Amino acid sequence: MSQDSSAISFVPAQTQARALREALENAGVMPKGYVEQWEETFDHWVPENGARIVARAWTDSTYRDLLLRDATSACRELGFGGPEGGFIVALENTGTLQNVIVCTLCSCTAWPVLGLPPEWYKSFEYRSRVVRESRQVLRELGLDLPESVNIRVWDTTAETRYMVLPMRPKGTEGWSEAQLASIVTKDCLIGVARPQVTHAKG
Ligand code: FE
Repeated sequence: MSQDSSAISFVPAQTQARALREALENAGVMPKGYVEQWEETFDHWVPENGARIVARAWTDSTYRDLLLRDATSACRELGFGGPEGGFIVALENTGTLQNVIVCTLCSCTAWPVLGLPPEWYKSFEYRSRVVRESRQVLRELGLDLPESVNIRVWDTTAETRYMVLPMRPKGTEGWSEAQLASIVTKDCLIGVARPQVTHAKG
């Protein structure tokens, strides 16, 4: 049986999205401006938020205690929370422990404090391999940890969102919170990188 390839029409994703949006709006299912509202929210969900939280924890032991005990409240204290961040748990890295986040099902992260997940985080390869061979995956992502450091992989869910609290690097004594925050990247908050003193700004 021959197959007629012309029968398969390709509709670009943008066109599909526009059509779906129009249909939902016309049916009264989705209020006008709904998508724009989310886009604006996304603009405020950036890893710099998580970096501020980490910098505060590095400089304020009371805040650090709160973060490790009740990260949801600690994040809220700095103005971060709400949808996709209703229950946040902070994972503390130590000299012998590196925490790493994954969502084996899909792509969950604590959006308000980490921002949207990177493409690689959503890939089937990361989601499956980081669980089975975490040390090797971290090495491939540029983080080569000695055997003395245990790696703990945390599988996030839609309900529980994690953020990693990295160790404050040596050589940052006397730095301002803004300086400290400048070395905490999204990858650090996921646990696949460590803050680098050489990347400091300001
Ligand atoms: Fe997910």
